[in-house]
Amino acid sequence: MTGSRTPLIAGNWKMHKTIAEAEEFIQALLPRVFSADGIDIGICPPFTSLQAMVDSARGSAVRVYAQNMHHADQGAFTGEVSAAMLSELEVQGTILGHSERRELFGETDKSLALAVPQALEAGLEPILCVGETEAERERGDTERKLRHQIQEGLAKVADDRLADVVIAYEPIWAIGTGLTATPEQAQEACAFVRALVGQRSQEAADRVRILYGGSMKPENAAELLALPDVDGGLVGGASLDPEAFAAIVEAAS
Ligand code: PGA
Repeated sequence: MTGSRTPLIAGNWKMHKTIAEAEEFIQALLPRVFSADGIDIGICPPFTSLQAMVDSARGSAVRVYAQNMHHADQGAFTGEVSAAMLSELEVQGTILGHSERRELFGETDKSLALAVPQALEAGLEPILCVGETEAERERGDTERKLRHQIQEGLAKVADDRLADVVIAYEPIWAIGTGLTATPEQAQEACAFVRALVGQRSQEAADRVRILYGGSMKPENAAELLALPDVDGGLVGGASLDPEAFAAIVEAAS
């Protein structure tokens, strides 16, 4: 992290927690992060808990993000929600292109190229996820994959809005596996992502926040968050427990 960018620690709950469980979590989290100054804290609950979490977190340092959004305004897209529907709930933003969405639900760079500017226009902060598989890393294809995902995902974002996107570098082999990228691997990939943004605008590259995600936990967070090009974390498993999540927020300060 460098002083000029505000760190963001965001918890991606995936398909976990009912409204009652989400309420229990937020009541336990809020007193633990009360004094976290200069850090943006986000939780990304399932759609069903968004309204309750926005209401419960109002006035606190915790912002609420969705986990996904469709790029169309409206239409025959059963099971999807639009940017306007999310901004009406007063959420801060939304994750886009998580590897689980890409792998399990067929989301493509092409649809993300539409969703990222759509979110920005609706006043939502997109957290665009990118990252390579284990096989791609072993083949030496990590940079090629990241280049493709960043160039496509941000293709329709104007240069002067690039810094309003948060980018999460999440090596797929580290997600939910307990395997974490080494600090060298995380720094190298995040610096590469920043350089890709820099090919569009150096000012945006200096300002854009790049998160690391993939088995971040209290024990490894401080080391990862100290890296110069890592501006925060997208935390899955460890974000389900208020104590562990608060410890990661603490590690960012
Ligand atoms: P993990 O998930 O922390 O459980 O590896 C991260 C993510 O999928 O965003």
